[in-house]
Amino acid sequence: MTRIAPNGIEPVDLLVVGAGPAGVAAAVMAAGLRMRVTLVEAVAVGSKVAAIGALENVPGAWTTGPQLAAAFAADIARHRDSGRLTVVQGRATTVTGYRDRAEVSLADGSLLTAETVVVATGVTALTLRDVDWIEATGDAHVPPLWRATSEELEAREVVVLGADRPLGTWLRAHPRTDTRLRVLHPAHDSYKTAEVADDSRVRCELVDRVETAARPGGGYDVTAYHPDGTSRSVRADALFGNLGSRPSALTGLVVGPDGYCPPDAQHPRVLVAGDLKGARMQRIAVALGDGGRAALIPYYRSLEDGFAPSP
Ligand SMILES: Cc1cc2nc3c(=O)[nH]c(=O)nc-3n(C[C@H](O)[C@H](O)[C@H](O)COP(=O)(O)OP(=O)(O)OC[C@H]3O[C@@H](n4cnc5c(N)ncnc54)[C@H](O)[C@@H]3O)c2cc1C
Repeated sequence: MTRIAPNGIEPVDLLVVGAGPAGVAAAVMAAGLRMRVTLVEAVAVGSKVAAIGALENVPGAWTTGPQLAAAFAADIARHRDSGRLTVVQGRATTVTGYRDRAEVSLADGSLLTAETVVVATGVTALTLRDVDWIEATGDAHVPPLWRATSEELEAREVVVLGADRPLGTWLRAHPRTDTRLRVLHPAHDSYKTAEVADDSRVRCELVDRVETAARPGGGYDVTAYHPDGTSRSVRADALFGNLGSRPSALTGLVVGPDGYCPPDAQHPRVLVAGDLKGARMQRIAVALGDGGRAALIPYYRSLEDGFAPSP
């Protein structure tokens, strides 16, 4: 346990990548068990949940994402003060398991070493370039709907591309906003529109294909091609993406055909937790339990090996 890596950074018992619900639960569980933990986070502790306006299905009194993110940050600060947990701000790129250790490389070139790594990097919003039903001319970056404020949606013609679930979250989080959203979505999103069907602020339109082009003076030209062969063009004042997400897998993880990282296929010293494991079960409560469980695996392993956690 006292092996020093060639770069001089002392190895820890557990390295956790990603400080969402899964990573925070793993780090808190491990620190509580007196393991030495390093938590690597690219943005901020709880940054994903902090942007969720209205929470559902989360046990306890949590009703908004910012409340929960603040509680996560307080937990992490408490364990950091105890000296058992170190937080590293950085973007992990690669994870590698070896017979006697696991390593994580960061984008800044540093290398961190641990007995075990938990990767809990979640998912990333798809962009226009990631989907085949949208052809974007010019700037292909459109902001995700779920991070939009009411003020940002105060436009005359708002077009949303895709009918992924954050649509319902956004509407619940902004009950008093009367912005009308024109949602263009492909057939594979149709089943998700049921939960917003009775909200008069939304008009869902099934499309085969969409073309978008940024206008030089601001706004977008959007043409929707419908399954019945008709098409319609509108000038959108604001355009938001709501296209779904893809796993944020690090290089070195074993990736399945759907891009997710099956836990049983990974190196024994590399564990995955939370949304990164699969498209189903993507919930905060699931991620919390999963992260805690991931930290217990190396803990019990080390006890079986005769290792006693540091005093
Ligand atoms: C709009 C929206 C609304 C939702 N509403 C609910 C709800 O009401 N109830 C519910 O139960 N669930 C909800 N969810 C789902 C829930 O947010 C996720 O299931 C949960 O956050 C997954 O936790 P996680 O820890 O696996 O991943 P995340 O919360 O995504 O955390 C991953 C963390 O890893 C960091 N990271 C990513 N890549 C790297 C890297 N390379 N290096 C370092 N750090 C990295 C990210 O910055 C992030 O902090 C919602 C999701 C969205 C998008």
